[in-house]
Amino acid sequence: MELTYTEEQQAFRQEIRTWLKANVPSEPLKSFDTEEGFQQHREWEAKLYEGRWGMITWPEEMGGRGADLLQWLIFEEEYYAARAPLRVNQNGIFLLGPTLMEYGTEEQKKRFLNGMATGKDIWCQGWSEPNAGSDMAAIRSRADLSEDGSHYIINGQKTWSTRAVWADWCFGMFRTDPESSRHKGLTFILVPLDSEGITVRPIPQLDGLPGFAEIFFDNVKVPVDCRLGGEGEGWSVAMATAGFERGLMLRSPARFQETAKRLVELYKANREEADQDPAIRDAVIRAYLDAEAYALTTYQTACRLMQGGKIGAEASTNKIFWSELDQRMHATALKILGARAELLPHAPNAGDVGTWLDGWLFSQSGPIYAGTNEIQRNIIAERLLGMPRK
Ligand SMILES: Cc1cc2nc3c(=O)[nH]c(=O)nc-3n(C[C@H](O)[C@H](O)[C@H](O)COP(=O)(O)OP(=O)(O)OC[C@H]3O[C@@H](n4cnc5c(N)ncnc54)[C@H](O)[C@@H]3O)c2cc1C
Repeated sequence: MELTYTEEQQAFRQEIRTWLKANVPSEPLKSFDTEEGFQQHREWEAKLYEGRWGMITWPEEMGGRGADLLQWLIFEEEYYAARAPLRVNQNGIFLLGPTLMEYGTEEQKKRFLNGMATGKDIWCQGWSEPNAGSDMAAIRSRADLSEDGSHYIINGQKTWSTRAVWADWCFGMFRTDPESSRHKGLTFILVPLDSEGITVRPIPQLDGLPGFAEIFFDNVKVPVDCRLGGEGEGWSVAMATAGFERGLMLRSPARFQETAKRLVELYKANREEADQDPAIRDAVIRAYLDAEAYALTTYQTACRLMQGGKIGAEASTNKIFWSELDQRMHATALKILGARAELLPHAPNAGDVGTWLDGWLFSQSGPIYAGTNEIQRNIIAERLLGMPRK
């Protein structure tokens, strides 16, 4: 692994830095868990697309730059350093997009990829159901093929669907063979959320905003050409999507490096109070080193993948590492802030302080989403360490 950047990579870094400097909104956008914020983020996606920065790893003919993983890491570093808005269409661009490129028909690629890239269609993910979270193979929502074979009729319920309140489309898995069980008989279907028979019920999160929703399907008709992959083959298509989620793309190191840098700034600005508890200084140093370690490991993995290697069960070690690091960093920030830590971002004169409480609340969900850390530990035990199931 070469630990220096080529001239080309440095020029690429400069190009994105210049663009971000000219384009990142001077005022932070509203939360995308509000209707107004969702619209602002949709417009930001369109702007990124215009600059060809929306999905740099996509092929050029689809509006991307055909960027490799190292360029992607550089892009992410600049993106977070510029404090650019979080990506409202993450589910579409980073998860469904690559899945469509692998499993979609030419017609589906033409139909869906551009709307996703421009921010016209924001996607949510419909995997989890009551009693089918960690055990995703327990999915019960059904999709029955109509007699003439032209459409599916969907009945059932999904839950914990992030950003479903204002999203346009949902991708998910449904049981198409009523006799089937577990991983068999499931089909991957793309559903327009304005279809008749759909009810989206918001779920408020800890900060009171409806970041999630339950989606109820009551005889929802979806044309058969919205199926991705073959009927009954949904599990393997979904595993590709989940692989994109748990692999490198879900959480780039830049996000945590930037938080670590802000934590160091916070410590320096409040040193007198912070140093009353020596554990705080240690926690700040550890956070900084851990974020750097995660970055180096990711660079190493990226180089290996670019040379044809694969990422397997070790993605689970990444997932545990970044989610716990995020929790530790935010907990340390709250300790430094003391009583001020209770200020919410929209409190009068909260300034930058409120973002820490906001981040702390969100960090609590890291060990749960994208497969809980208990499940990741099972995977590590069985697949990396070769330990018995029980
Ligand atoms: C911020 C956030 C965003 C999310 N976004 C989405 C989304 O967009 N779309 C979507 O479909 N879902 C989403 N989810 C749901 C998420 O995928 C599930 O919450 C997760 O898979 C866990 O499932 P569950 O909540 O049903 O918990 P359960 O599966 O009921 O688990 C409860 C507890 O038991 C533990 N447990 C369960 N089985 C085992 C086992 N075999 N061994 C050891 N421990 C076990 C779990 O680790 C957990 O601690 C989101 C969740 C969060 C927090």
